[in-house]
Amino acid sequence: MALERTLSIIKPDATKRNLTGKINAVFEDAGLRIVAQKRIQLSEKQAGAFYAVHKERPFYGSLVASMIAEPVVVQVLQAENAVAKHREVMGATNPSDAAEGTVRKLFAESIEANSVHGSDSLENAKNEIAFFFAETEILP
Ligand code: ADP
Ligand code: MG
Repeated sequence: MALERTLSIIKPDATKRNLTGKINAVFEDAGLRIVAQKRIQLSEKQAGAFYAVHKERPFYGSLVASMIAEPVVVQVLQAENAVAKHREVMGATNPSDAAEGTVRKLFAESIEANSVHGSDSLENAKNEIAFFFAETEILP
């Protein structure tokens, strides 16, 4: 196992309900270290570019709108095996399929308003981290 970094986003449905701390506690209890974090308002252009991989999906427009409805908290999480560890603790995309104790089981409102984003591969994590953070903002 290697020390990895992954990109996490606490989504508008969660920031709106004041759940940033509770979600961070789940991550930290799982051994993920928050090595960078900022609360930002995404523009439509930024959210559209971030989710460009889903452009052809029927939910793309609605997803982009949901991501700009409120501020988000973008974070870099570091741990051994961080990408898989974070995906595991986030839970399945659809909260009705998510395992007990996962962020999405605990907090998500719907398949779209599912409280958190996490990179799905080490390569995507590198690109997604660079989308939001300068190397100087990441402090292990
Ligand atoms: P994940 O976030 O688990 O990696 P995806 O990459 O497949 O899931 O989808 C990105 C995001 O798009 C999801 O987190 C969710 O907010 C939204 N989404 C995915 N599938 C649907 C759907 N069927 N209907 C509405 N929104 C969806
Ligand atoms: Mg994804």
